[in-house]
Amino acid sequence: FYDRNPELADLLADSISPGERELLPKGWSILGKVIIVKIDPQIESLKARIGEALLEIYPRCSSVLLDRGVAGPFREPDREVIAGSAKTETVHREDGVVFKLDPAKVMFSAGNLQERMRMGRLGGGETVVDMFAGIGYFTLPMAVHSRPKKIIAIEINPVAYGYLAENVRLNGVDGIVVPVHGDCDLVTPRAVADRVVMGYVGTTDQYLDAAIAALRAGGALHYHQTVPEKLYPRKLEEDLAGAGERAGRSVKIERSARVKKYSPGILHAVVDARVDGA
Ligand code: SAM
Repeated sequence: FYDRNPELADLLADSISPGERELLPKGWSILGKVIIVKIDPQIESLKARIGEALLEIYPRCSSVLLDRGVAGPFREPDREVIAGSAKTETVHREDGVVFKLDPAKVMFSAGNLQERMRMGRLGGGETVVDMFAGIGYFTLPMAVHSRPKKIIAIEINPVAYGYLAENVRLNGVDGIVVPVHGDCDLVTPRAVADRVVMGYVGTTDQYLDAAIAALRAGGALHYHQTVPEKLYPRKLEEDLAGAGERAGRSVKIERSARVKKYSPGILHAVVDARVDGA
């Protein structure tokens, strides 16, 4: 996430009013050669000029996407090219990992960087199931840095799955990662995993039964979910306790952490738990 708002304001100074200047974007993110920016709807008529100015600030970038958020279970972004090339497929490098993606078609959350790096230090020698693998957000750092025995990486969105399979090859981890195209509720294997990653928010609780069934005794679970700030972490701990009870297994909470602010009053959080007794 970058903030060079004063430079943007200077570049546009001659053609915008002081009121418009106040509404200019305060930050944006850059994935590979693509700049992704949210623009206040009140100044959307300036989008082409804002896009051109951003390309001037970052000459190595080739496209600018206006971001209107992500929607639906496939996490499809609503994004439009406002400047530069219409070809938005790019290669993003982060923490020694290569992520090929088209940010116009699949999401990638800049705010989850710390969590991606944390996952990249876990899982050594283990069998891991990544139930919501996307383009490999957590699978790739883990495979590249920790060298698990195996990661079963499940993804339902065909576009994201295509990038996942390609990224596995690009990072040279095809001996470790097994990409699976499907609904994790149906295809998650049972009683195989030392660790399960649930990198999805909104309805993640509905997949807890499949996650717990995938774990061997003593396995680790990373449960991501959105939660009202006032109910954090209690609500998430209750979700896990309920799932443990349904499965007749003990679930011990080991850590809760805020990943990022999701929307006003709502957090994206992650709870780590240890699941015993298969
Ligand atoms: N953790 C990611 C990051 O760091 O940016 C973001 C979450 S990722 C986009 C979530 C992925 O889960 C999406 O690619 C979505 O298509 C996938 N997904 C949603 N429901 C699913 C299901 N039932 N089975 C498998 N994958 C699913």
